[in-house]
Amino acid sequence: MSSSNLAVVAEGLRKRYGDTYALDGFDITIPQGTVCGLLGPNGAGKTTSVRILSTLLRLDGGRAEVAGYDVARRPDQVRKRIGLVGQSAAVDEVLSGYQNLVMFGRLYHLGTTAAKVRATEMLQQFRLADTGNKPVKAYSGGMRRRLDLAASMLLAPAVLFLDEPTVGLDPRSRNEVWQCIRDLVGMGTTVLLTTQYLDEADQLASQINVIDTGRVIAEGTPSELKSRIGGDRIEFVVHDQHELGRGAAAVSRLGIAEPVIDEDKRQIGVQVADKSTALPEAVRLLDEAGIAIDDMTLRRPTLDEVFLHLTGHHAERRAEKADEEVTA
Ligand code: ATP
Repeated sequence: MSSSNLAVVAEGLRKRYGDTYALDGFDITIPQGTVCGLLGPNGAGKTTSVRILSTLLRLDGGRAEVAGYDVARRPDQVRKRIGLVGQSAAVDEVLSGYQNLVMFGRLYHLGTTAAKVRATEMLQQFRLADTGNKPVKAYSGGMRRRLDLAASMLLAPAVLFLDEPTVGLDPRSRNEVWQCIRDLVGMGTTVLLTTQYLDEADQLASQINVIDTGRVIAEGTPSELKSRIGGDRIEFVVHDQHELGRGAAAVSRLGIAEPVIDEDKRQIGVQVADKSTALPEAVRLLDEAGIAIDDMTLRRPTLDEVFLHLTGHHAERRAEKADEEVTA
């Protein structure tokens, strides 16, 4: 299994807490220099898998190699080659960004001069050069996360584990963190990213593994996963809310599933097999039925719809809550 172009390989991982299997036959393979998004609802086993792969937790069964080394037999070698950004910030609030990075460099056994040089480079790379001398308590959430990323990348690890790196950040900060992650991958780093934000996985990951109750239940590129539930979506906004039922009935024969009505948006959604014939036909049918349309869109399924299809529930409940907390 130690294929040279794979940065992470895990087979049949098991981890048990009492009667609960946090991981129950978890498999994953991640090619070097790519981002793998590990998506799953609360309690699915995301953090447990990251903790096992980063050698913080012992596995009860299965095996895993990270950066070419077995996590159970050679944890020392694995640790030299990985970085980890957990859910809570590891940086010191009172120190400046620069001082934090020098401190981390010293903890990682860099000499004083080397730690200072590396700290300066990292501030530059993570777009913190202008604020490097300010205390971290003056930083925004996004700046702190970028400083976390910088600290975890001080030794230029081959594999970086990011456990929900943008939870609670506002959209602009999330974009900044995403850009830093893209830069890292551009330089060859392999990233395993756990997230409940579907758009985050869509934006960053070339491969997505959906995890539920301790095992991977689906994997593929974002596009492949969207194709799995089949078809495109045509959505109509009707002018008169009372026409929703009649409109859905008019277009129902075009759909490969029952049309879905959203009363608040005055919208009818139809999943169709062939958009090129279904779209003009739907317009004709609604026109024939005398139903006025305010708007019409054609789109592919979202990852959240894929997630709902696979797991029976939406992925972003907690993520939305975190956004509300930030904007409140
Ligand atoms: P979240 O997004 O909420 O962090 P997760 O996908 O990361 O969820 P894990 O934290 O890996 O999930 O937890 C997987 C399961 O294992 C859950 O049922 C959780 O309650 C359980 N679990 C995790 N850590 C422990 C522990 N130290 N003791 C007992 N049970 C645990």
